[in-house]
Amino acid sequence: MTKPFTQNKLDRCISCGYCLPACPTYKLTGNEESSPRGRITLMRAVQDGKLPLVDLVRESNFCLGCRACEPVCPAGVEYGVLLEEMRVATWTGKNRPLIVRGLFIAVGTKFIVRLLGLFSPLAKNRKSEGEVHLALGCFERALFPSVSKAVAAIEPNCSISADQGCCGALHAHNGELEKGKEMAVALGESMPGTILSTAGGCAAHLSSALGRDRVKEFSEWWAAKEAVLNPIIKSGKPVRIGFQDSCHLRNGMGVFKEPRAILASLGEYVEVPDASGCCGAAGTYALLQKKNSRKVISQKVSDIADLKLDYLATVNPGCTRQLKTELKRAGVITKVIHVAELIALSQK
Ligand code: SF4
Ligand code: SF4
Repeated sequence: MTKPFTQNKLDRCISCGYCLPACPTYKLTGNEESSPRGRITLMRAVQDGKLPLVDLVRESNFCLGCRACEPVCPAGVEYGVLLEEMRVATWTGKNRPLIVRGLFIAVGTKFIVRLLGLFSPLAKNRKSEGEVHLALGCFERALFPSVSKAVAAIEPNCSISADQGCCGALHAHNGELEKGKEMAVALGESMPGTILSTAGGCAAHLSSALGRDRVKEFSEWWAAKEAVLNPIIKSGKPVRIGFQDSCHLRNGMGVFKEPRAILASLGEYVEVPDASGCCGAAGTYALLQKKNSRKVISQKVSDIADLKLDYLATVNPGCTRQLKTELKRAGVITKVIHVAELIALSQK
């Protein structure tokens, strides 16, 4: 049998356990096997033929893929890559969730991706002088088209094309790693120059497939401009703004100061407790592991309610959807909004 994991990536783990306190599924259960170290131990056992592959399925499903275990790891274990390999090995055939199969068909067909944007008021096609292209994101263009419209309004020097495919992040994170890389390369070829992304998950996948210098996530792009922003005023006072990190943006690309700096100039910035911790959206996780997803976000919802924020800013559509849904369910009136939309609001 072909070995499912890249051996030198498995070998990197020194079993120190520094990652355990950072792991949301370990916090939920206290079980070693639901920690990064425990999962790597299971992967090693499968790699060495001591455990059947089927014994990996449960933890492959339960792991959020948030990569909070990576920045705290002293040995530089690329857990995100190991998880992608684990999903390639475990989410095949009948083990591939039906929802994932349906989503693969949707985002893997350019016609359907275009259709997603057709019925929503997306930013209009345009060609700009510069070499910056806005990636529209499959789910963002369908669920939150106001984000690309906001970028079009505040960043005139980027080209926008509705005729673009999916970046492949969904495939890469759900058991189709090679296909996910191919899709990223195809998108990169259709957008020569810099790709600007408003979705942390897409930006992280594109940058791992195309190279960090080809991809800019919106908040890092905007922060580098050092533009002066006016605070948003409500009832004579600057609005109170909190922020939820995108796991892949923070843990995969190291971007977390930039959105906070922007928000601090738009109002009274309030750090949400454990803002760097996963909100439970985690790509398809909120659809596949509904109960666990809600357990992961429950403390965050009550923390946000206590802060009485006007806005909670996000940088990833999955987080936006999850927070909007759960805050509404809890009766919290804080508005969830993308950083780009808040900038656009400040310029009205
Ligand atoms: S993944 Fe990193 S932090 Fe966790 S046990 Fe292995 S070496 Fe230690
Ligand atoms: S990706 Fe997140 S849930 Fe999975 S092992 Fe790492 S910290 Fe835990």
